[in-house]
Amino acid sequence: MGQKQHVVVVGAGYAGVTAALRVSRRHQVTLIDPKESFTERIRLHELAAGRTGTPVVLRDLVAGREINTVQATATSIDPGARTVLLDSGTTLAYDRLVYALGSSTDTTRVPGIVEHAYTLEQAKELSDRLSRGSGTVTVVGGGATGIELAAELAESAGAWQVRLVTGGEPGSGLSAAGRTHVRNSLERLGVHLHAHTRVQAVHPGGLSTDHGELTGDVVVWAAAFTVPSLAAEAGLRVDARGRALVDPAMRSLSHPDVFVVGDAARVTVPGTGELRMACATAMPTGAHAAEAIDALADGREPEPLRFRYLAQSISLGRHDGVIQPVRTDDSAHRLVITGRPAARINEWINRYTLASLRAERRRPGTYRWAKPLRPARSAVAPASAAQAQ
Ligand SMILES: Cc1cc2nc3c(=O)[nH]c(=O)nc-3n(C[C@H](O)[C@H](O)[C@H](O)COP(=O)(O)OP(=O)(O)OC[C@H]3O[C@@H](n4cnc5c(N)ncnc54)[C@H](O)[C@@H]3O)c2cc1C
Repeated sequence: MGQKQHVVVVGAGYAGVTAALRVSRRHQVTLIDPKESFTERIRLHELAAGRTGTPVVLRDLVAGREINTVQATATSIDPGARTVLLDSGTTLAYDRLVYALGSSTDTTRVPGIVEHAYTLEQAKELSDRLSRGSGTVTVVGGGATGIELAAELAESAGAWQVRLVTGGEPGSGLSAAGRTHVRNSLERLGVHLHAHTRVQAVHPGGLSTDHGELTGDVVVWAAAFTVPSLAAEAGLRVDARGRALVDPAMRSLSHPDVFVVGDAARVTVPGTGELRMACATAMPTGAHAAEAIDALADGREPEPLRFRYLAQSISLGRHDGVIQPVRTDDSAHRLVITGRPAARINEWINRYTLASLRAERRRPGTYRWAKPLRPARSAVAPASAAQAQ
């Protein structure tokens, strides 16, 4: 067995916590995140609608493992010196770095988002605002996040009229049956849908769009996600969106001591192509990076990531949803599961993510994910990935 190393994990989301727990089997870990509690991002739309769960204290989530949690923000990385600088002024040295800073709402798309719109990172503030008064709340974004939020608000924020504005069709990645169900459910919940409407600016009284002005009281921007600039600033090779380019073992293509996982990485696997920014991607890539660190410590070449999606899950309030089974290449099957069964499956998946982290704490190596039937020969085409810089 190879030498014990100091592994620093920056970012304690789904990817970072999974990596930290698994790597703690063999190595000493420092886990850095500014928040005291683990953010269950996949439930932020529920929080926005006033449903508060019990906070999951990060320290408890990793208790009993050789993991030192540090409540701080990483402000820069020096991959040459193998150090991370924290906002506290502390410099941490590492043997291996796991970069798991995730993503956040892109507030640069049109003018006025920062000043006049809420984002899901402000879910609690949004919930507080909606608990006072009434009026129209406009959700911008027709992807899974916007749909889930609009449905959740319509079901619970009774005094508010909910509007969903999207540049295309809501749930465009779903099958025709899935898209129809989303439309019908939003209508049943009383959501006013403005499809094929592009927002040009957000202002105090609502939105300017290519179909004219939409007045309203509260705007929530849920249209697109962006990644932190730390990787690019550190000199890691990144794509046009700032996501770090990685090899099949999750190693940065430019700095192999740095493993990049979750939303912050651009991961491509044969058969599926580019992986989605999703919790369903974050946990497998986090676990796989830990396995790769172990392999390298033993002097072995790490295995390539083997991964496939089984389904996409979208909640439509607490009693409805869409489970969209997907093929190996992540394209939608024709059939979907909808209604209460879908809502139950969605809730089961959400509970499973946290339960998996807790199981991984008790016994690292427990968490498993779906894989294609035949072993992948290579998980990334480094040459084409490098060109994407
Ligand atoms: C409302 C909503 C619903 C969703 N539903 C689903 C779903 O049903 N299924 C699914 O697969 N995905 C879903 N997603 C997407 C999923 O939440 C993300 O893809 C996932 O959280 C990515 O995990 P991650 O670990 O890469 O990053 P994150 O979960 O974003 O974690 C990143 C962590 O890094 C920390 N951090 C950031 N900057 C720094 C810094 N400078 N220093 C230290 N720490 C830092 C943050 O505090 C955070 O804890 C949903 C997202 C939203 C918003």
